Amino acid sequence: APTINMKGVSYTFLNEGRPAVHEVDLQLSAGSKTAIVGPSGSGKSTILQLLLKLVTTDTGKLSMNNTNFDQIQQESIWEAASVVLQENHFFYGTIRDNLQLANDGVTENEMHAMLKKVQLDHFDLDSHVFEKGENLSGGEKQRLAIARAMLKRGCFWLLDEPTSSLDAVTEQIVYNHLFQQAADDTVVLISHRLTDMERMDQIIVMDQGRVVEKGTFTELMDKR
Ligand code: ADP
Ligand code: ADP
Repeated sequence: APTINMKGVSYTFLNEGRPAVHEVDLQLSAGSKTAIVGPSGSGKSTILQLLLKLVTTDTGKLSMNNTNFDQIQQESIWEAASVVLQENHFFYGTIRDNLQLANDGVTENEMHAMLKKVQLDHFDLDSHVFEKGENLSGGEKQRLAIARAMLKRGCFWLLDEPTSSLDAVTEQIVYNHLFQQAADDTVVLISHRLTDMERMDQIIVMDQGRVVEKGTFTELMDKR
């Protein structure tokens, strides 16, 4: 699993006056679990975009396993990553296409088991698995994105509110599978809820592009 280092990283979107991310320091050690919390617009998603090299830093240093991001191809980051982004799930074609896309070696049985885990097994595999991903409801899309991320078996997980459209029970089921599967992997999770925050190694609190607090769940709660 990768080790990521961010040192004094800033990024401003084109034609925006204020930086989306301002002088952020972030250490993600191999196999660590990090949650990023904070109000809407505080720069959480931008951090994930930087980590996926969808945008590149204006200033500061960003490295993976001590290699500067400048020297790393975007594709090699994506190859290692299991990703659930908001809204844009990058769906292509049918449910089957999306799950196969995650991993060429996915068998019918694995696909079935994974759909069951994320409770998409009400889709009759013989027919509805050919349903277009884009025709699914918000909650279904999110579960398909989670299933795809899990079948991918990446060692670097980047999750932007992956359970925001799920009910509390399904959310807990998904988190249980996730923490089991990603036990040895580096995980970054953006969350609005406090579900499972005790399981994270560090929680980063952002506000207006800056990291304003950092600590374990217990440390942050003790301050309140
Ligand atoms: P969060 O994920 O915490 O809600 P974001 O990282 O999405 O915050 O946004 C941080 C800031 O960057 C906000 O001010 C937002 O309006 C701005 N921003 C985000 N995406 C874009 C974009 N594609 N173009 C211009 N500004 C953006
Ligand atoms: P959720 O609360 O899980 O997001 P919705 O109430 O949005 O569910 O959707 C309920 C049902 O409608 C789902 O079975 C979904 O497949 C179907 N559905 C939602 N949007 C579309 C669409 N654009 N085209 C076809 N079916 C849709």
